[in-house]
Amino acid sequence: MVTAVVGANWGDEGKGKITDMLAKEADIIIRFQGGANAGHTIVNNYGKFALHTLPSGVFYEHTTSIIGNGVALDIPKLFEEIKSITERNVPTPKILVSNRAQIVMPYHVLFDRYEEERLGKNSFGSTKSGIAPFYSDKYAKIGFQVSELFDEETLAEKVRRICETKNIMLKHMYQKPPIEEKELLQTLHEYRDMVAPYVCDVSLYLDRALKEGKNILLEGQLGTLKDPDHGIYPMVTSSSTLAAYGAIGAGIPPYEIKKIITVCKAYSSAVGAGAFVSEIFGEEADELRRRGGDGGEFGATTGRPRRVGWFDCVASRYGCRLQGTTDVAFTVLDVLGYLEEIPVCTGYEIDGEVTTEFPVTASLNKAKPVIEKLPGWNCEIRGIRSYEELPENCRKYIEFIEERIGYPITMISNGPGREDIIYRKR
Ligand code: GDP
Repeated sequence: MVTAVVGANWGDEGKGKITDMLAKEADIIIRFQGGANAGHTIVNNYGKFALHTLPSGVFYEHTTSIIGNGVALDIPKLFEEIKSITERNVPTPKILVSNRAQIVMPYHVLFDRYEEERLGKNSFGSTKSGIAPFYSDKYAKIGFQVSELFDEETLAEKVRRICETKNIMLKHMYQKPPIEEKELLQTLHEYRDMVAPYVCDVSLYLDRALKEGKNILLEGQLGTLKDPDHGIYPMVTSSSTLAAYGAIGAGIPPYEIKKIITVCKAYSSAVGAGAFVSEIFGEEADELRRRGGDGGEFGATTGRPRRVGWFDCVASRYGCRLQGTTDVAFTVLDVLGYLEEIPVCTGYEIDGEVTTEFPVTASLNKAKPVIEKLPGWNCEIRGIRSYEELPENCRKYIEFIEERIGYPITMISNGPGREDIIYRKR
């Protein structure tokens, strides 16, 4: 059985925590898209970790962690990350890397940086991990698959060809030093030796695992609103963040995904530029940012302060719909305990009309939030383990949002730890 854990919003919804928690019952956890550009923060019995490339199931001895073909694989970063967890007493995880995953090249990182510099104030707010240049090359059919590292003759020829193209761009577009062909080939040999023990025909492996009835988790990065097709284009990421893409980015049949857990945060946060209708500013924002997440809303990869805002019913309903949600995991609810009243964005006003349907970017940029206020519960809810024990206003907040988004909230996360979860039968 395959379960996808994906985000409804702009990312940072707490997917890492939910995946880490569900991985207890899973055999295999797969990353199917994205790269080392975003992070998942996980708090468990080994401590607090920020993962960027590894799936959030690496903390159990019984799990196999897979980097699927849809991922932008930064090989040195993967190995640094493995080292950073084993150094802290986490048992060496069992890792497999798809032979069809493509490699983030050193020049992808450079092009990402140069392009953001060139764009100046119009930049995308990229994390400069090379993700956009990586996916551009993948679809321009000039990327490098892991499997290509093992065919020396073709590899050397391709490196020569790619250097030629890239160097024209470096010289004329960015006035930067060229890539040395020999050096790049040498780097790729190092990558090959690092990754060799882990390379696997992942779709075949998963086909067998499915036949054996294994429990498989697909772990998404970022959320619906960053999807290149259905998100706030162009301020999106470069690979699909939707559960549907899990089938492609892992190499399994789409009908095998039986459960889609969409993680939805009890308020909003976003990194990078782009429309964010329910965003708040000033004192009010500083306070939410400071109290948010687990020790403040600052990016797990970049340390950048996240933009914050109130819960957005319009964006979240859309976010859940596009994921094909079967269950909503409602997270970081404990953070809102300081508020007497909780504002919620229930509609968008666009050109004088109120809508509850999420629009395309041009209209979104004109949208103003319609805010309703709900009474707060004004107390600490961490440590509570059953739905009935939650304060009445807290239950009302959950039920109000459930009604507005139209998908069942079956899990409520009231703290960063594995055990901070309330299951709710629907
Ligand atoms: P992801 O990218 O979706 O995995 O999300 P991140 O890990 O970037 O951000 C979520 C942050 O919220 C992390 O710091 C988590 O430790 C924290 N977190 C997750 N769930 C909860 C929760 O229910 N309550 C609190 N207070 N923090 C949480």
